[in-house]
Amino acid sequence: MSMADPVGNDTSEALAGWQGLLQSIVDQSPAAIHVKDRQGRYLLVNRRFEEMHRLRACEIVGKTDAALFPPEQAARRRILDQAVLARGCAQEDEEASAIEDDPSTFLTVRFPLLGAQGRAAAICGMSTDITERKRAEDALRRSEEEYQSTVEDALEGIFRVSLQGQMLTANPAFARMLGYEWVDELLDRMTDVRRQLYVRPQERDLIMSALLERGTVEGCELQLRRKDGSSLWVAISTRLVRDAGGQPLLVETFASDISERKRVEAELKRHQDHLADLVAERTAELTQAKEQAEVANHAKSAFLASMSHELRTPLNGVLGFAQILQTDPNLTQRQRLGLQTIQRSGEHLLALINDILDLAKIEAGKVDLVEAPVQLSEFLRVVADIVRVKADEKKVRFRCDTPADLPAAVRTDERRLRQVLLNLLGNAVKFTDQGEIRLRVTQLDRGSGTALLRFEVEDTGVGIDAEHLETIFLPFEQVGQAARRASGTGLGLAISRQLVRAMGGDIRVQSHAAQGSRFWFDIRLSVVGQQLPDGAAYAEVVGYEGRRRRVLVADDVPANRAVLTDLLGSLGFVVDEAEDGEALLARARMACPDLVIADIVMPRLDGVQATQHLRRTPSLEAVPVLLVSATVSASDAERHVAAGANAFLPKPIDVRQLLQRVGDLMELHWTHAPPA
Ligand code: ADP
Repeated sequence: MSMADPVGNDTSEALAGWQGLLQSIVDQSPAAIHVKDRQGRYLLVNRRFEEMHRLRACEIVGKTDAALFPPEQAARRRILDQAVLARGCAQEDEEASAIEDDPSTFLTVRFPLLGAQGRAAAICGMSTDITERKRAEDALRRSEEEYQSTVEDALEGIFRVSLQGQMLTANPAFARMLGYEWVDELLDRMTDVRRQLYVRPQERDLIMSALLERGTVEGCELQLRRKDGSSLWVAISTRLVRDAGGQPLLVETFASDISERKRVEAELKRHQDHLADLVAERTAELTQAKEQAEVANHAKSAFLASMSHELRTPLNGVLGFAQILQTDPNLTQRQRLGLQTIQRSGEHLLALINDILDLAKIEAGKVDLVEAPVQLSEFLRVVADIVRVKADEKKVRFRCDTPADLPAAVRTDERRLRQVLLNLLGNAVKFTDQGEIRLRVTQLDRGSGTALLRFEVEDTGVGIDAEHLETIFLPFEQVGQAARRASGTGLGLAISRQLVRAMGGDIRVQSHAAQGSRFWFDIRLSVVGQQLPDGAAYAEVVGYEGRRRRVLVADDVPANRAVLTDLLGSLGFVVDEAEDGEALLARARMACPDLVIADIVMPRLDGVQATQHLRRTPSLEAVPVLLVSATVSASDAERHVAAGANAFLPKPIDVRQLLQRVGDLMELHWTHAPPA
């Protein structure tokens, strides 16, 4: 090695210059440097070495390790030094700091310094502080160990595959999933996962292309092939692992066994499909049953309608003539009473027919309330009269209490209210053998055109056990003695409760066995301000003012026509008759009537159809039409009125109502007989 003179002086000076220069280079070095002779005595140390050992150069130079450091350390260094001398080449060694509380680690490179004959004359050591690097390496190793143990213990299958498809690692869970006993066996076999592991290899292709694009693929469900050839459903999450330079290195995959879930899903699907089949089957059955039921229901409605018509038509004749005959001023007292009895009995019979027919309707939940003004005292008198007869038969007293403050007239469905009261009173009579039965009506509240009325039926009869107080309202529920039960159906209270509920109230009961019962209900009714002309007033109608009016009466039953012809004829009307809708139209064309009264149910052309024809005939379109029928409900009536009729009356016809309508429709002023 040639050296230039650093300071340009003579040789000894030059040497000293070089020494100084070298010393300063050595001192500036970040590595700790020392030089020892063959015997291990320190010849030179730099500043970093001093710091590292917390000693000054003068304390070190000339001494051996044995004099400076603990015996094991000194011995270790001596052995390393001798190895360098013996081999004549550099050696690396990691050593902990010689200072007790210093955690540093150093990497020392020892190499021989060759003398004149090429023999190692001294040893140089250069130590660098690798504490930080060691720490990072330790942390990495620990985390690698932790990862390994996590992977080993995981229940999830974890495996790594090279980009070429060789399985690199797998945990025991994954090996078990695939039916291998040992991980190594799995790794040995899996050299091409695409073909060997994936049931559908194209799925692996898709995953790989997604990985290269996005880096991860989550929650992908697919089937893997097991050792025995069977397949296994797994959900996988997989990621592409890259090297430090960002190049794809391998694919790491987490797989969970979802075969049980898939099995349950398949089972569920099978059940759902089966259920859907069952539902479809059942729906078809139900549709058929519904259609059959509708046909049956239609037949039942038709039967009820015709029964209703058949029963009411003859009653119409009976009641109509009874009413007309009562207007004859020449009747004897006996005849008058007889006619009243015919009328009362007929009305009762009519009510019974209506109740039987209603039963079917109420059971079907179709409660039509037809409200009209009702004279309360008259209404209660009729109810009381009926009950009194029955009570008298059993020799039980009957009282009807109606205080004077009751409204004179209210709007209600007279027939339904009567039905409820007759049911409660009928029961009271039936279940009472001695003592008294009481009907009491009281006004609980009155205001803004309405009155809250309480209807109460009390008896001193057999009473009802507390446990039966609610069940008696259920259909077909009867309690008490068999003999008494036989005379009823067990439907009365069920129907009554529904009717009262439809009226906005509810039936309550209080009873004690052997002491008697009290049934009551409260309903709010609107009060009718104006007094209705009562039956007597109409009975005195003898005619009308002005020109003679022509009325066309259409009904297929001659007796019904006769009732109306008789009544209207006696009041001065010209009455034409027609036996069906077609005859009605023909008559009307011949002589235009001032009013048409037509039955709805007629052969060939019924009342509604005839009305529609009239409305389409220019000369007859304005003729008022009053439809009558024994078969229609209130809602039907509204429909018929909407179809062109001007008014509707139920059969049997009430004379008072008939005259009221007839008068209204032709705008008549009735003339009355002078008071007797
Ligand atoms: P029915 O009277 O036709 O049997 P209801 O529905 O009217 O049917 O009455 C049901 C049952 O309630 C009767 O069978 C009877 O046991 C009991 N019940 C009703 N009213 C009375 C009463 N006033 N006193 C004693 N028991 C009664």
